[in-house]
Amino acid sequence: MSSNPARFYTRLDANIVRCDLCPRLCEIVPGGIGWCNARCNEDGELLSLGYARPVAVAIDPIEKKPLMDFLPQTQTLSLGTYGCNLDCCFCQNSSLSRGIYNSSDDARIILPVEAVSLALANDCPSISLTYNEPTICAEYAIDIAKIARRAGLKTILVTNGFIAPDAARELYKYIDAANIDVKGFSEEFYSEMCRGTLAPVKTACEIFKNESGGHLELTNLVIPGKNDSPQMIADFLDYVESALGLDTPLHFNAYFPAYHYRQSPRTPATLLRKISDHAHKRGFTRVQIGNI
Ligand code: SF4
Ligand code: SF4
Repeated sequence: MSSNPARFYTRLDANIVRCDLCPRLCEIVPGGIGWCNARCNEDGELLSLGYARPVAVAIDPIEKKPLMDFLPQTQTLSLGTYGCNLDCCFCQNSSLSRGIYNSSDDARIILPVEAVSLALANDCPSISLTYNEPTICAEYAIDIAKIARRAGLKTILVTNGFIAPDAARELYKYIDAANIDVKGFSEEFYSEMCRGTLAPVKTACEIFKNESGGHLELTNLVIPGKNDSPQMIADFLDYVESALGLDTPLHFNAYFPAYHYRQSPRTPATLLRKISDHAHKRGFTRVQIGNI
């Protein structure tokens, strides 16, 4: 099975490595694999299993990412791999996020230079790392972005923002636009529904917008009864206004029952419209609803 040297790690005693890419800081023994199923320890070296091995390749309208204010009405070459560093019980892409590379895989190899050629050949002015969680393949994203920039193309991340700050500063400086999925605005929600934490996601949003200077849009998947309380929505909007600005494009998307979480009904359009109207009244200038 092919794999590539990873960055963002520290070698500890006994050839154990600590992956420093995301807040999980997995300590991986030789022969072991990280929490995300995408990074493994081979004799004290950390390898990236998904590097150049996308398992989902498509050309999508950029609005589907979703991005509303970046290269509108263009197509984007979209690549996804296996694995994720969160475990959202409502994941709408679990076949990828819970997928695992194995030695019998004959996954298509698309090197960064080939991804750029593919985008150019299909008149795509951008390449999106999307579908699963691109953070866990940061090395692939960086290498694509470097070549894409030289070719006049943009690189986009559609991400959960669950990344360590130092890694975010390194990865995001190559990325032109991102949609960060803020899944619900409380630590309890992240713990119960995503097996993660909210604080690093907020830090990632701030690094992307305020330090890297990339174009940032946010998505919130609204799950009835779980993350749609007026208080939680107000907390989210308060945060965005103060930390990122009222001009930050916001997407409120409908949930549908998927993966392990089917208890809530599909999000009614009326609820999304109510949240969108409220955001507009508070002064947010760019608000969209989607998945309806
Ligand atoms: S990126 Fe994967 S291996 Fe690295 S710390 Fe996060 S979950 Fe663990
Ligand atoms: S972060 Fe996205 S891809 Fe990962 S488990 Fe959650 S919804 Fe699925």
